[in-house]
Amino acid sequence: MKDLTHYINGERVSGTSGRFSDVFNPATGEVQSRCPLASKEEFDQAVEIAAAAQPAWGATNPQRRARVMMKFVDLLNRDMDKLAEALSSEHGKTFPDAKGDVQRGLEVVEYCIGAPQMLKGEFTDSAGPGIDMYSMRQPLGVTGGITPFNFPAMIPMWMFAPALACGNAFILKPSERDPSVPIMLAELMEEAGLPKGLLQVVNGDKEAVDAMLDNETVQSIGFVGSTPIAEYIYGRGCSNGKRVQCFGGAKNHMIVMPDADMDQAADALIGAGYGAAGERCMAISVAVPVGDEAADKLIEKLVPRIEKLKVGPYTAGDDVDYGPVVTAAAKQNILGLIESGIQQGAELVVDGRDFSLQGYEDGFFVGPHLFDRVTPDMDIYKKEIFGPVLSTVRAGSYEEAIGLAMDHEYGNGTAIFTRDGDAARDFANRINIGMVGINVPIPVPLAYHTFGGWKKSAFGDLNQHGPDAFRFYTRTKTITSRWPSGIKEGGEFNFKAMD
Ligand code: NAD
Repeated sequence: MKDLTHYINGERVSGTSGRFSDVFNPATGEVQSRCPLASKEEFDQAVEIAAAAQPAWGATNPQRRARVMMKFVDLLNRDMDKLAEALSSEHGKTFPDAKGDVQRGLEVVEYCIGAPQMLKGEFTDSAGPGIDMYSMRQPLGVTGGITPFNFPAMIPMWMFAPALACGNAFILKPSERDPSVPIMLAELMEEAGLPKGLLQVVNGDKEAVDAMLDNETVQSIGFVGSTPIAEYIYGRGCSNGKRVQCFGGAKNHMIVMPDADMDQAADALIGAGYGAAGERCMAISVAVPVGDEAADKLIEKLVPRIEKLKVGPYTAGDDVDYGPVVTAAAKQNILGLIESGIQQGAELVVDGRDFSLQGYEDGFFVGPHLFDRVTPDMDIYKKEIFGPVLSTVRAGSYEEAIGLAMDHEYGNGTAIFTRDGDAARDFANRINIGMVGINVPIPVPLAYHTFGGWKKSAFGDLNQHGPDAFRFYTRTKTITSRWPSGIKEGGEFNFKAMD
């Protein structure tokens, strides 16, 4: 049994708490390694090391910091396959999807190469007589982040790249379910030229998270994960005086108008609903066709596409559509919600409950499911399933459809499929959801825009990546400066004639 490590002060170090959690191979169900769970003392020690390393890094010319990011991009590209392999083996997602996970993080690193431009500050000449006023963005000091299992490369990079580019130290507490890639990333950052102690990975569970929340040196916390934990971290972190941003769960609706291209809408739903086994915060989990005719057509087009989906281990090659879910507990939760859907009266049009893969009977695979005639009072509608299960809620009108999405407690992403520009424009303007797609099913903004939901999907004021990240990881200092007349009055400014 392999024991994984933390990454502290530039070294892989063994855990000393004596506590571990199992890391599975989700395709076979076997335990492949153990992840150490840090004690408060181990966490606090990492913070001390980070605090000692940060001032020199904060004082480093931002262009030099950006060069580390530049080199890191090269190393990510060099090791792309290695990272994706490690990621798939612990998470279960397909190999191309694992590369996408690394790639979407890499793009934020590329954006952070612009740190010198982003950190330039503001200057007003002659704000008063002889007075100049300027604002500068300074690093916070030691910052921290807590990340979920579903994007073990991308989300850590969304946090540590801007934090470090701004001159902070960063302590990452990644998901204990797939902890290998974050450590590989920290090693690559050091190979790219990052001094030791500035990016540390401390593995753990609630104990390490609470240590981060209560450590007075930690100035800010970024969190991505489920909503109940997001609320907990936001509340405790803020009351401890920290800057906190937390991103939570989702229930993303896709409205399908009767004038939509139904083949396009069905294709979009297949990728957005079942890709990564539905374990994406931007997955579409609810389809809302408007009118029974549109609903019947959509279901008719979805069923054969769903039946053709190939479910398998990442090792089976590129034609696998999605892999297993992350743990046996996740599988049980999904199957339990499917049962509740049946009991509460939804129509199970595609039933994947019997799915089993020869040679992988103990893996955490879940066959694809499609529900029709789901209603808002059902648990499968209210809760985030985070599995390969698409629910269809039939709406009688556009107003009813937009009302459903607006009334749901989550507000991460949404989409509308239509040929009508007026409906699309109205939808984009009125909807109370952070990320909106128009004929685009997973509207994940690119690195230079910002990412974040509304309502119970996000807590805090600033989004992830884009310009908001530079605001989150710096604080503004504004200086008003007046220099009384000094040496220039008595100075000599003319060439003297030589005697
Ligand atoms: P999770 O909330 O179980 O875990 C997230 C992190 O919190 C992990 O590092 C975990 O160790 C830690 N944690 C878990 N329980 C804790 C506790 N009681 N106290 C303190 N820390 C705790 O989430 P997950 O299952 O890893 O990820 C899936 C969830 O993340 C889904 O809800 C998904 O929608 C959400 N997510 C949201 C976004 C977004 O941007 N909004 C992105 C990705 C995932």
